[in-house]
Amino acid sequence: MPTIRALRRSHGMTFSDLALRSGISARTLAEIEYGMRALDETSRVLLAAIFDLEPLLLAGSAPQARPAPRNPPQQLAALGIATVASALALSPMLQGQAEAGGAIIQQVMAALSTAQSAQPGQGADAFAALPSATPTAAPSATPTPTPVEIAPTIPPSATPAPTATPAFSLQADGPHGCPLIAPAGMSVVITQPFGVGTHVPAETMGAVDLAIDSDHNGYDNSDATFGSPVVTTLGGTAQVFPNSWPGGNFIIITNAESGYATAYGHLNTLEIADGQVVSAGQRLGTAGTTGYSTGPHLHYEVRSPAGVNIDPEPLVGCAR
Ligand SMILES: [Zn+2]
Repeated sequence: MPTIRALRRSHGMTFSDLALRSGISARTLAEIEYGMRALDETSRVLLAAIFDLEPLLLAGSAPQARPAPRNPPQQLAALGIATVASALALSPMLQGQAEAGGAIIQQVMAALSTAQSAQPGQGADAFAALPSATPTAAPSATPTPTPVEIAPTIPPSATPAPTATPAFSLQADGPHGCPLIAPAGMSVVITQPFGVGTHVPAETMGAVDLAIDSDHNGYDNSDATFGSPVVTTLGGTAQVFPNSWPGGNFIIITNAESGYATAYGHLNTLEIADGQVVSAGQRLGTAGTTGYSTGPHLHYEVRSPAGVNIDPEPLVGCAR
């Protein structure tokens, strides 16, 4: 009976790839593969469909996989990852340490959520800090890690995310509002939060990934996301980077008066010109999956007047 891990790898898919295809969070998939979580019937059906199998022929984890250890997790230092500051270096640990299962996942997630800058002071285009290597799902074949491999997808639980609008917390002259416009009857979800996965180090890579939830189940839908309008949350002057890597079709809007800037990545179409002055709410293009991306979404950054990326989540007003 094939395991999800074997099927995922034989299809050359990362956890994020499978998360995008199945609507099951990357974290949940990892827990199933490591035997920390039973394969529930809904997930079994979803995953079997992706791999074109009868659901009953699908196994969650390998029979010899061990459950999560009951004794306290080892310290990060003991695992040799305390000094690893980026998700890029953590990825192979996650993939290679099936034996340690639960403790590794929990500690990697904890480390990611608190990871600090490894490369402060990168250039204005924070995307320049990302490696230019093509992602791959075969860690044994190449030493190049896949940073999106361990990025969890929001929401992590089966509970649908509420669509209530949070209060804005930034001054009026800063960016606010939702940069991704959902079609009527649909909502917007965060598929990768600030400071996690490819959004580390947060100071230069921090962003939220946004996508369309077509049926209010808390999970993103690729078809609905692709082509949805992207608008600027801040007036200012545009820098347009067509076909860049890893940001794909990438736009930065800088507001000279407030000092804030916002950035929009992986666009499918670009509808403004480099150097163009735009006003808040103006349409920039449409969401897509250009550049280093595992599926349609909007990568959205807010940069403070000090040039540091800050968490846009309280500002976006359209997700969770
Ligand atoms: Zn992103």
